[in-house]
Amino acid sequence: MVHPAVATDGERGAAYMHVESTYHYDEKPTYTTTSGYPIDDPKKYQRVGNGPLLLQDFHLIDLLANFDRERIPERVVHAKGAGAYGEFELTHDISDLTTIDMLTGPIGKKTPLLTRFSTVGGEKGSADTARDPRGFATKFYTQEGNWDWVFNNTPVFFLRDPTNFPTFIHTQKRNPQTNLKDATMFWDYLSTHQESVHQVMTLFSDRGTPASFRKMHGYSGHTYKFTKPDGSFVYVQIHLKSDQGVATFTNEEAGEKNGSNPDWLTQDLFEAIDRGDNPSWTTYLQVMTPEQAEKFRYNVFDLTKVWPQGEFPLRPFGRMTLNRNAQNYFAEIEQAAFAPSNLVPGAEPSADPVLQSRLFSYADTHRHRLGGNFHQIPVNTPIRSYNPFVRDGQMNVNGNLGANPNYQSSYRPLTYKPNGLGTASHEKWTGEATWAVFGDVTDLDFEQPAGLWKVLGKQPGQQDNFVHNVAGHLSGAKKDTRERTYGMFSRVDAGLGKRIKEATEKEVAGK
Ligand code: NDP
Repeated sequence: MVHPAVATDGERGAAYMHVESTYHYDEKPTYTTTSGYPIDDPKKYQRVGNGPLLLQDFHLIDLLANFDRERIPERVVHAKGAGAYGEFELTHDISDLTTIDMLTGPIGKKTPLLTRFSTVGGEKGSADTARDPRGFATKFYTQEGNWDWVFNNTPVFFLRDPTNFPTFIHTQKRNPQTNLKDATMFWDYLSTHQESVHQVMTLFSDRGTPASFRKMHGYSGHTYKFTKPDGSFVYVQIHLKSDQGVATFTNEEAGEKNGSNPDWLTQDLFEAIDRGDNPSWTTYLQVMTPEQAEKFRYNVFDLTKVWPQGEFPLRPFGRMTLNRNAQNYFAEIEQAAFAPSNLVPGAEPSADPVLQSRLFSYADTHRHRLGGNFHQIPVNTPIRSYNPFVRDGQMNVNGNLGANPNYQSSYRPLTYKPNGLGTASHEKWTGEATWAVFGDVTDLDFEQPAGLWKVLGKQPGQQDNFVHNVAGHLSGAKKDTRERTYGMFSRVDAGLGKRIKEATEKEVAGK
């Protein structure tokens, strides 16, 4: 089987069809049942005279039974998405920071990849233009395994305690009684968990409604570690800056597109790549030593905080280009399984509790959604992998490693390659087992949102749009929730809280 990320045009069909001759458009395939029985007329079905149908009509039963099973569980979050293949190119020497295979070697070294963009809260059929963060997930098929960057288009997130994640997501989805989106639920959560305000500031700026997947940035959000075999490490944050620039919709433009073309961002990405207008992103690192992290004003494991770029400048290291559409959306994009636990030697998670919980949750989602052998689906398969202890299970389709021993056999010994883990202690953790939370929201949590309010002030019309975007949404919430939310924005900036109150109450009065 040819790997879909590296297949040539001629080979690509074979990756998905065991019977290659039925794939190519220019051939005239012979129609059969799934078992290969030729059928002379697909419209025909068996019945007795003008009476009931016959159970022995395998062709009809085969069709209906497979149709009934076409849907798989959609992702609970990030259900609606679009993606494409491409390549990463190393553009700068960063060997002082890392020994990661993909990021070392000659400048110009290339690694194939697949990227999937998505909204977060909506269902699989929901509008691309909804106000929402965007998922920006990339799977790099490196020589030392798949490395997944499961990023967003925002540098922070709504929460820093992983236990809040299911609760928070519920409030952004549908009311359990009405099955409607519910502004009171939405703002009730945010105003009672005010550590969310930094992300709320981003979400309700016009960057919450991107006009194109090609024209938005990506951020690791979490702190990661680049480790070296000698035991040293640095903390990093990864940024992907769109070479197309940033383009956003206003609230009204996004609302119009929700109705006139809810798949606009999907269409825009596909058509751009189809005409050879390949989007690219320049990739940057912010770097912090463990010693700097100890003295840093903010906790580097707090997902609601950024690292100021003046203090931790962006250092370029590569370029990511998307240059090829998938042949089959379901096989290659819907079934793509990204997980932050897919790491490579030299890249490690930090102790950010939300990242730690995602290390479990993403792969677990794929086991549920796609089955335990999801890693055998071609788009999820590493270019090179060999684990004879992982065997059997449903939908085992890769030959199950044949007659190879399924234990550490002296008759066919395995070879082992050093990966840097265990050769040195990168971090030392000591202490008693505790029940932890990040703790109360303090004035510190409002500093960076206030910084973003100032950033918006430097872009013409953006503060006005922000107030307008919040007011339109918040006006749907109950009074006490609205009042609490005004208080939250006042802690960012007193003038902002006042403006949001006035604009929101005007909307309420006009309803
Ligand atoms: P700078 O003042 O050096 O730069 C401002 C940053 O804000 C740029 O990265 C810019 O992106 C980005 N930005 C502009 N408009 C928006 C928006 N509507 N939503 C989100 N980001 C936007 O950044 P500092 O590091 O000094 O931080 C100032 C504030 O900027 C922070 O409080 C934070 O809210 C925000 N920010 C910081 C980031 C970081 O990693 N430090 C990343 C993104 C935002 P662009 O490249 O398009 O100009």
